[in-house]
Amino acid sequence: VWEQCVRQLKGELTSAEFNTWILPLQARVDEGRLRLFAPNRFVLDWTRQHYEGRLLDLCRAYSDGAIGRLSFEVGGLDSKSSGTAAQITSAAPVDADGELAARRASANLNADFTFDSFVEGKSNQLARAASIQIGQNPGTAYNPLFIYGGVGLGKTHLMHAVGNIVLATNPNARVVYLHSERFVAEMIKALQHNRIDEFKKTYRSVNALLIDDVQFFAGKERSQEEFFHTFNALFESRQQIVLSSDRFPKEVVGLEERLKSRFGWGLTVSIEPPDLETSVAILHSKASLWGVDLPEDVAFFVGRRIRSNIRELEGALRRLVANAQFTGKPISMELAKHALRDMLAAQDKQVSIENIQKIVAEYYKLRTSDMISAKRSRSIARPRQVAMALAKELTKHSLPEIGRAFGGRDHTTVLHATRTIKNLRDSDASIEEDYKNLLRTLTS
Ligand code: ADP
Ligand code: MG
Repeated sequence: VWEQCVRQLKGELTSAEFNTWILPLQARVDEGRLRLFAPNRFVLDWTRQHYEGRLLDLCRAYSDGAIGRLSFEVGGLDSKSSGTAAQITSAAPVDADGELAARRASANLNADFTFDSFVEGKSNQLARAASIQIGQNPGTAYNPLFIYGGVGLGKTHLMHAVGNIVLATNPNARVVYLHSERFVAEMIKALQHNRIDEFKKTYRSVNALLIDDVQFFAGKERSQEEFFHTFNALFESRQQIVLSSDRFPKEVVGLEERLKSRFGWGLTVSIEPPDLETSVAILHSKASLWGVDLPEDVAFFVGRRIRSNIRELEGALRRLVANAQFTGKPISMELAKHALRDMLAAQDKQVSIENIQKIVAEYYKLRTSDMISAKRSRSIARPRQVAMALAKELTKHSLPEIGRAFGGRDHTTVLHATRTIKNLRDSDASIEEDYKNLLRTLTS
């Protein structure tokens, strides 16, 4: 069967793709399952991400349905047990580790997102510490724990890490991780099938409920109502609730007040974009996880240039490694500059807060330092608000980050500024014109 799959894929893929990702795989059939062995973690992840669906279809077709599952492992055919840490499998569990894996799967937890694989830095220190506390003392430390921050900064990773540690320390704990959109979808399904009581019971009987990206509850009233009751039930019975969002609880638009206020009852922590050292440490940690050599100068180069978030940092590294695999060359500065040139060009187009402050100050004939000063006269405060609104619109920075960049102001000040400018742009033609001019200058 495997040989037939390989032959078929050889026709479907470019020879570089085929040689890099499919050829190194080894396979064995095991009770209705095709076990694939990859030489390293990177090939495993990549193949799984890009070819799992196609592979499964082919296997099913060529085996007349006798093979219904795939599993991926690092190692070779002869390495008997290839270490459970590296094992990603959907197969039925057979031993204690297998049981944990099954419980993890039913909790929707990703085994890779642990505290071990989470690199600590100033930007995430508090969120990490709070999450560890919660993981070790679910329901008793802080409830709920609310983690907020921009995309790709590690919120989901931390939530999974909490879930994983709760499960690992207490085999009887019931843990559920769910993206808020999944919660909504599950609820709608339950309503359709007249199973809403079951739905309620399921979520109100867990020991730890982890709901990701709660901003997606916005505008979904019935879901908010349902979640409100779930929250209360868990809170009153002292079961752990962990929530995440891209912003501070009170700022989540389209969320009922009673939810917003409850979200702030426990501990609210933010995750910030990583500083250079943390970025470099994360790159090294991912590289060693994938079993590849990452030279120090390349790590610093990537860390310095990819500033936005960790997901992009990871994406850059993935590109480097793929490029090295393709070309058969080791990772070097030369390879990095070549492999990342599109990414870096896109990055260079992005506007920085400093640039916005400079351009706005020039436009209004002020000093750049006025942008961050405490002066409150209208002639300075208004342009400053314009700059904050532009920063919100043109950069990926969060409100707290923007506030900090404007002389350590509070995130509510930034929020107020963006709202004020939005209103003024509707009512005051000169502000509207200024804003448009500035937008044009900054983005052209
Ligand atoms: P968010 O949920 O905030 O958008 P994720 O948790 O999905 O971000 O993180 C994006 C990627 O970055 C994930 O692959 C995650 O493992 C990785 N990541 C984030 N923070 C760290 C960290 N401190 N150490 C290691 N990897 C991290
Ligand atoms: Mg996330």
